[in-house]
Amino acid sequence: MIGKIISYQMLNHDVVEIIFQLPEVLNYKPGQWALIDYKDAEQPLKRAYSIAEYKVVAQGCQITLAIKMLEWSKSWWYLRQAKEWDEFEIVGIFGHFVLQENNNPKVFVGTWTWLVPLIAMANETKSQKKLYFSVSYKSDLFYVDRIKNIENLESHIHISREEVEWCEPGRIDLSKESFPDNAEFYLCGNPTVVNSLVETIESKWYKNIYTEKY
Ligand SMILES: Cc1cc2nc3c(=O)[nH]c(=O)nc-3n(C[C@H](O)[C@H](O)[C@H](O)COP(=O)(O)OP(=O)(O)OC[C@H]3O[C@@H](n4cnc5c(N)ncnc54)[C@H](O)[C@@H]3O)c2cc1C
Repeated sequence: MIGKIISYQMLNHDVVEIIFQLPEVLNYKPGQWALIDYKDAEQPLKRAYSIAEYKVVAQGCQITLAIKMLEWSKSWWYLRQAKEWDEFEIVGIFGHFVLQENNNPKVFVGTWTWLVPLIAMANETKSQKKLYFSVSYKSDLFYVDRIKNIENLESHIHISREEVEWCEPGRIDLSKESFPDNAEFYLCGNPTVVNSLVETIESKWYKNIYTEKY
């Protein structure tokens, strides 16, 4: 289906937020991703992007994506020159990394743009919730306002490579934290980071762990 860009804005030096208007209401659960098929590419090029926000509107739905633009990567050219009212092929919404529908306390952990699905989940759940987000430098931060606006969320924003007064220093270290026994963990990140966090969480006997690695 055709997704029309209704908003395009840089959130920091390399993360762009794109809001697409879609002509239909699609099944969606917080944590899922949309698949873009870059039809103008010479070789088949499809990319998955997590949805930060999903909204049903009069003419269908709107999805908000936050995409890290890697200079000279395959999709960079198309993302870089995209603008409002451009049209992209959106294949659909997919994914098994979704918010569990229960009242268990929830802990969300993500770095860089792996934050995106966690924002959608944290926004949705009414459970007791904590979010851990980390980047290297202050200039890499984005969506701090979204994080701060999520009701009843205890947030921990880590900057690992410089000191920032209102942020926590160093990387996320869950070994020093404690959580209720029935806490659920949602981890999104590269496989190395997620596997190491899972090891820490499992060593503390927590069992409800959901991950998205890429
Ligand atoms: C379920 C899922 C959800 C995702 N959600 C998001 C999301 O919300 N936001 C998001 O930004 N991405 C997300 N991704 C990743 C996204 O789908 C792409 O894989 C990513 O954007 C890289 O695609 P590309 O075309 O830019 O890079 P490609 O050209 O395909 O390059 C692949 C990899 O090669 C390396 N690489 C390529 N070019 C360069 C370069 N110039 N400099 C340094 N390294 C380079 C990088 O490691 C890069 O990731 C998600 C992926 C999955 C599977």
